[in-house]
Amino acid sequence: MSENKFNNNNNLIYLDHAASTPVLQEIIDEMIPYLGYLFGNPSSIHTHGIKSKIAIQIARKRVAALINSKPSEIYFTSGGTESDNLALKGICKSIRNNQKIKNHIITSAIEHDAILETCENLEKDGFDVSYLNVDRNGIVEKSELKKCLTEKTILVSIMLANNEIGTIQPIRELSEIVRNFDKKIIFHSDAVQAAGKILINVKELDVDALSLSSHKMNGPKGVGALYVRDKVKFEPLIHGGGQELTLRSGTENVHGIVGFGKACEISMRDLKNNSQYMCYLRDFLIDRVNKEIPNNKLNGSLEHRLPNNVNFTFLGVNGEDLLIKLDEEGILASTGSACSTNRQKESHVLKAIGLNHEEISGSIRFSLGIQNNIEDIEKTIIVLKQRVTELLKISPLKQKYKE
Ligand code: PLP
Repeated sequence: MSENKFNNNNNLIYLDHAASTPVLQEIIDEMIPYLGYLFGNPSSIHTHGIKSKIAIQIARKRVAALINSKPSEIYFTSGGTESDNLALKGICKSIRNNQKIKNHIITSAIEHDAILETCENLEKDGFDVSYLNVDRNGIVEKSELKKCLTEKTILVSIMLANNEIGTIQPIRELSEIVRNFDKKIIFHSDAVQAAGKILINVKELDVDALSLSSHKMNGPKGVGALYVRDKVKFEPLIHGGGQELTLRSGTENVHGIVGFGKACEISMRDLKNNSQYMCYLRDFLIDRVNKEIPNNKLNGSLEHRLPNNVNFTFLGVNGEDLLIKLDEEGILASTGSACSTNRQKESHVLKAIGLNHEEISGSIRFSLGIQNNIEDIEKTIIVLKQRVTELLKISPLKQKYKE
């Protein structure tokens, strides 16, 4: 693993990689010239501008290679949220403008807020949205998808992997159901959490649009991409100088795009080793928690799970209290989606897989990264066991969950 001189974490054990990841040194090295002497605007036709333009072209090729698309099918955005907004609003509005009766969108109940809030916004704009249920493992029910499809359906958006419980959806099978019903329906997938953890091939998945975010894969924040298959039309959300083929205006975030491109190249290069390594750490953590800490429950599918996701409910314990205790010991985890925890609402994902209030409040997510090692996991297990036992002793539910 390459040492990162900017990554001095003072011995903290960072287990919140689903929220964000440290930028790798080789990525920082590649970005620095574009923060310094290579500052030209890629739209300028002088030497500096051309250098920035070429850097973007290289990055576009690297992003495309990661998901097996053409470079011309990649549109750079400010991150996963914008990519999801652009896919849903841009594609749905473009289709409805031409075919007025089409106004139906299908998504799942466990999507990230970037999708769910966008759908809510589209509902205010006259679209109908169906929210598919998931089973107890967090997998979308295929029969439900079949039932929901109508002649008014424009787009189906199902995430490739969930940010809270790490469940990987059978996207290929779901897109096949949609194709068999009507080839014109657009299939979008939010692959923000999946990229860099599992292989993504847009042709094999048979998706028309796919969202990516750089900061979840050891790249910089504030940059991402939307893949849109050739010939699928969409409207821009941001109008202006006509960058990104007029579909996403604004002077490009050149250093961010360069860093994201490098992150994609590295992800592809190291995917097999990294995902095997993270699976090893993940399975070790799951196994030891199961053996050593009573009254626990693993949330999400064990089989169809991201290599870096562990989400446990510790019954009788308050997850936020536990997080604070772990933080005091230098272990950084999360109770759910960091991108929306400012609102401190109950997890819609855990609710959708059938957890009750008590189970949801005792839940905690550990999301592992390539910088973690087995010592981090061993220390986490020791501290976790101590803290869960302590919290259970003072819990109002202690009688119920006595060992
Ligand atoms: N989609 C998923 C599944 C996510 O997990 C996140 C962030 O956590 C996003 C979208 C939003 O991505 P960004 O933070 O790049 O806006």
